[in-house]
Amino acid sequence: MAETARRIFRVRGAVQGVGFRPFVYRAATELGLRGAVWNDADGVVIDAEGAVPALETLARRIQDAPPPRALVESLRYEDALPAGLGPFAIRDSADRPPSSARVVADLATCEACLDEMRDPADRRFSYPFINCTDCGPRFSIVRDVPYDRARTTMSAFAMCAACASEYHDPASRRFHAQPNACPDCGPRAWMHGRDGADALAGAVEALRAGATVAVKGLGGFHLACDARNDDAVRELRRRKRRPDKPFAVMFPGLAALETEAELSPLEREALHGARRPIVLLRRRTGARLAPSVAPSLEEIGAFLPYTPLHHLLLGRFGGPLVMTSGNLSEEPIAAGNEEGLARLGGIADAFVLHDREIHMREDDSVARVLLGQERVLRRARGHVPEAIPIPGCPDAPDILAVGADLKNALCLVTGGAAVLSQHIGDLESYESQLFFDEVRANLERLFRVRPRMAAHDLHPGYHSTAIARRTGLPLVPVQHHHAHVASCLADNGRHDRVIGVAWDGTGYGPDGSVWGGEILVADLVGFERVAFIRPVPMAGGDAAAREPWRMALAHLLEAGLPVDRVAQPGRTVVAAMIRERVNTVPTSSAGRLFDALASILGLRHVNTYEGQAAIELEAASSGEDVEPYPLPVEGQLPLVLDPRPLVRAVAQDLDRGAPPAVAGARIHETLAAAIAEACTRIRGRTGLGKVALSGGCFQNRLLTVRAWDRLCAAGFEVLLHARVPPNDGGIALGQAAVAAWRSAR
Ligand code: ZN
Ligand code: ZN
Ligand code: FE
Repeated sequence: MAETARRIFRVRGAVQGVGFRPFVYRAATELGLRGAVWNDADGVVIDAEGAVPALETLARRIQDAPPPRALVESLRYEDALPAGLGPFAIRDSADRPPSSARVVADLATCEACLDEMRDPADRRFSYPFINCTDCGPRFSIVRDVPYDRARTTMSAFAMCAACASEYHDPASRRFHAQPNACPDCGPRAWMHGRDGADALAGAVEALRAGATVAVKGLGGFHLACDARNDDAVRELRRRKRRPDKPFAVMFPGLAALETEAELSPLEREALHGARRPIVLLRRRTGARLAPSVAPSLEEIGAFLPYTPLHHLLLGRFGGPLVMTSGNLSEEPIAAGNEEGLARLGGIADAFVLHDREIHMREDDSVARVLLGQERVLRRARGHVPEAIPIPGCPDAPDILAVGADLKNALCLVTGGAAVLSQHIGDLESYESQLFFDEVRANLERLFRVRPRMAAHDLHPGYHSTAIARRTGLPLVPVQHHHAHVASCLADNGRHDRVIGVAWDGTGYGPDGSVWGGEILVADLVGFERVAFIRPVPMAGGDAAAREPWRMALAHLLEAGLPVDRVAQPGRTVVAAMIRERVNTVPTSSAGRLFDALASILGLRHVNTYEGQAAIELEAASSGEDVEPYPLPVEGQLPLVLDPRPLVRAVAQDLDRGAPPAVAGARIHETLAAAIAEACTRIRGRTGLGKVALSGGCFQNRLLTVRAWDRLCAAGFEVLLHARVPPNDGGIALGQAAVAAWRSAR
């Protein structure tokens, strides 16, 4: 007879709310072990007694084959004296406040649940809230931890006998599935004002007729309309006051999507995984979506249904639907029934509501597959609140990092790991500021964080800076582009010194000018500015970002060229402002250089959404193996990248009749070549062989790929963002990492 031993295992990681205890129960029972499993402050504890080989097998299974959504960060055990434990059991969560136990992100509906939902003989046939331990709402419904039904918005629903028996049956797929529900006992959906009628039938009818329907989902409302009906899409644009910014489209399934876009295996995986982000895809020619879904763009943002309600709606509608966030531009997404009716009443013709309350709203995440990896552009549902360790700083104190003002997200550090919040939005709006407070309070509660310092942008006028000041905590100011590079380092789990290319629209420079075309030598503590784009005067502050023609004037004038190719009203006045340096600020911004070139190419003179000119310049560019224009890299450190010869060459090329598509491709090649040349020269002076690419400009696929190619060819190791956006949505992580490192010194 084998020797009896007793071991107490401690499992850390994303192990609550993913069916971990039932998994341990089944394995332990099968292996003939006795004892118990429970959730505690740090994860899951297993007290198991039995034969040593059985205990070892249990440990191996936890490491090698945990439940599909679980993420085991560590498994440790200590030996204990055998005590003749009883039959293996699952105990309720220990009643202590949790610290590092991770709340998991919301999970897309699994295949097993979909099979049941489509089976007319199943008791959950066509039920829009079916879920199990592998799928369903998590972060959006959790009010507090440990993760138990009573601490979620499902506490309002008492389970019926059938659901309760699944919940208590260790052999069931729904054993301890906290949101477990069925048509008899769980949430229901209805069409507003048409109680009793079939909610989805009514919605489908309205959508077919070209109406806009507001649909309450997992993280908030979507505004839906028929994506093949151009009139319907235009009308939604008019009501939402969103003339051009692309709309995301939800397709019934991969097959339907494949008629519109070509999919690589990685794109298929990204679309179909449990996170289910909106994935930016290249459109097929001859695609049938309404042209107004994504005007002037080669890419579409597509996603697949991720809740049972979406599956039912798209299945019955039988075609793609525009599914855009239920908000007015830049405001947070609406989530409550009353709130949705009030805020979206002027946009939607009909409402599909449900009575499972959304505790924490969140937008859809946006991602793209690039250079062999899925890369997040907007981080929200499916990612939050997954933690990212602060590299090399496991003992960091609790920190609040408030992010930047545009594309704001905040970040909390606890236990050496950073929790980056969902996308909050533009802090210019009061609603977004309230949302910031809501997000902060929620994450501080779920992770039991008590920040001891507040990291913020160096910009004295940012709303986020004011928020940091109001906390009364010791402040850690972090320069914007340093935060970008630090964010890229943390995203890659690195803390070594790198050459950081931080190219974006706008960031406050310590010299009072507007930075945005910077190359830094940086680590997680400090930075040195080693190169920048030669500054030009930016006329009219914020107006310059909205009106690319102003930047075109500045770059043309600096290059000594006539300004008559920019035929905008106000040209003379603005040209005079630039010449006289009246109401202008010097800027090295790469984003503004893209704007200027888009305007000079005649593509876009006025933006209706952030980054539009640069996005359309990229979309218009085509041509392979094109020659770069001249863009000299001059001086000693700091190097100066002089865009004047580039602007002259572009103007000359256009005058000779070069098509904008080719000029656009050459512009991208030029900037990529300048990055590679500058980095090579910086390597010569510093010996650094690693480059991090960060900042909003690296949302540009063409620029990123060309810079990557050239840097790799020059022998650099190149770090790109993956889990965290390269844009300002990643700034808070960089601020947090810098604050953690500075506090450790
Ligand atoms: Zn499921
Ligand atoms: Zn039930
Ligand atoms: Fe930025």
